[in-house]
Amino acid sequence: MSPVLDIRTMVLIYVGINIGQTIVLFYLWSVQRNYPPAKDWAIGSLLFAIGLFLFSLRNQVPLALSEIASNLFLLPGMMLFNIGIVKAAGRVPPVRAGATICILANAALAWFVLGDPNYPVSVIIHNAAILTFYLYTAYVCLMAKTASGNHTFRLIGGIFILLSLVCAWRVAGGVFGLTFSFSSTLPRLFWILTSLICIPMVTVLLTLHTSQRLQEEIEAQARRDALTGAYNRRAFAEFADKEWSRSQRHGSALSILSVDIDHFKSFNDLHGHPTGDAALMQVSKSAQAALRTTDIWCRHGGEEFVALLPETGMEQALAVAERLRVAVERTTIPSPSGPLSVSVSIGVAERTVRHERMSELLAVSDAALYQAKATGRNRVVAAAQRAPGPVRIVSVA
Ligand code: GH3
Ligand code: MG
Ligand code: MG
Repeated sequence: MSPVLDIRTMVLIYVGINIGQTIVLFYLWSVQRNYPPAKDWAIGSLLFAIGLFLFSLRNQVPLALSEIASNLFLLPGMMLFNIGIVKAAGRVPPVRAGATICILANAALAWFVLGDPNYPVSVIIHNAAILTFYLYTAYVCLMAKTASGNHTFRLIGGIFILLSLVCAWRVAGGVFGLTFSFSSTLPRLFWILTSLICIPMVTVLLTLHTSQRLQEEIEAQARRDALTGAYNRRAFAEFADKEWSRSQRHGSALSILSVDIDHFKSFNDLHGHPTGDAALMQVSKSAQAALRTTDIWCRHGGEEFVALLPETGMEQALAVAERLRVAVERTTIPSPSGPLSVSVSIGVAERTVRHERMSELLAVSDAALYQAKATGRNRVVAAAQRAPGPVRIVSVA
C-alpha cells in the first residue's frame, strides 16, 4: 500500500482541524464567560494550533525555530486545554506539576535540538510530556462524578486513552528504535483517524457538557428564591409531593413548620425596604443553619417560610422549631442605624391518617401559626393532633 499522505499535508490538516476547534471554543467561551474551563479550552487550543503551525514549517525554517518554538506553544497549550477539562470534571488541576513538566520538557528539547540534534530523543520527550497530560486527564474523566453528564466525561476519558496509546506508541518507538515513523500506512492511518475524529469529538463533547451544565444551572435557579436562596414555592411543591408519597408508602413521620416574621410590615416601614430585604436574608440563613441537611427550607411568600421535616414526628419537630425560633431571635441584622433583630412565630403540624394531601397539612400548620400570632408572637405552637380543638402553645419567649 502506498503511503496515505505526506507528513506535511497531514500536519496541515491537523492545523486546520485545530484552528476550527479553536474558533468553536472561543465562541463557547464568549457565550460562557462565567465558566472558567471554557477560557482554558479556548486559549489552550489556540496555543496548540500556533504550535502545530510552527511545527508544519519544519524543513522550511531552521530546525531550532520549528522544533523549539513549536513546543513552546504546543506543550503549554495542551496543558491548559487539559487543565480546563480537569476543572470541568470537578477536580483542582495540578497546575504546578503541569507547568514543571512543560518547563523541563521544553528545556530538554532545546538542549537536544541545539546541542545534540537527535530526532528520536525529541520525539520521546515531546510525547512523554503529552502522555502524562493525557493519562491524568483520562483518569480524572473516567473517575468524574459531576451532577450529570458523567457519560460525557467517560467518553472524553475514552478518547484520551486512545490518544495516550498514540503517544505511548511514539515514545516506545523512540525508546526501542521501533520504526514508528509516518512511512508505514497503518500508523499513518491511525494517526489521521485519531486527529480527524478525536479532536473534533472532544470539542463536541465539551460543548455538550457546557450546555448540559448551563441547563442544570438554569433549572437549579428556577427552584430557588432569588433574594434568600431558599427553595421557592415551585420547588416546595415538588419536594412536598415526593416526601408525602414516601411518608405514606413507608408509614414514616413527616412534619411541617409554618414560619412567619413578626411585625415585618412595621420593620419595613421603620427601617426601609433594603434593610427588610437584609432581614429576610439573615433570617433565612440562620433558620437554614438550625435545620438538618435532610430538612427542606423554602420561602413560601413575602416573609413566610415553610420547613418540611421528613422522618420527623411532632415532638422532634417542636424541638427543631424552638431551635429555629431561638436562632432567628439571636440573629443580628445590619442596618445604617446599627444592628437590629426580628422574631418569628411558628406553627407545627405532623402528618396523620386524617390528612389526605400536603395542602391540608399546610392549612393545619398555618392555623397553628395563626394561634402563635394571636397569643403574642415569637413562639412555637403545635397544631391539634387528633381532632380540631385547642392547640398547644409550646414556647413563649
Ligand atoms: P405579623 O406579625 O402578623 O405577621 O405582621 P406582619 O407585619 O409581619 O404581616 P403583614 O402580612 O401585615 O406584612 C408582611 C410584610 O412583609 C409586608 C411586606 O412589605 C413585607 N414583605 C414581603 N415581602 C418582602 C420582601 O421581599 N422584602 C421586604 N423588604 N419586605 C417584604
Ligand atoms: Mg409577618
Ligand atoms: Mg405573613
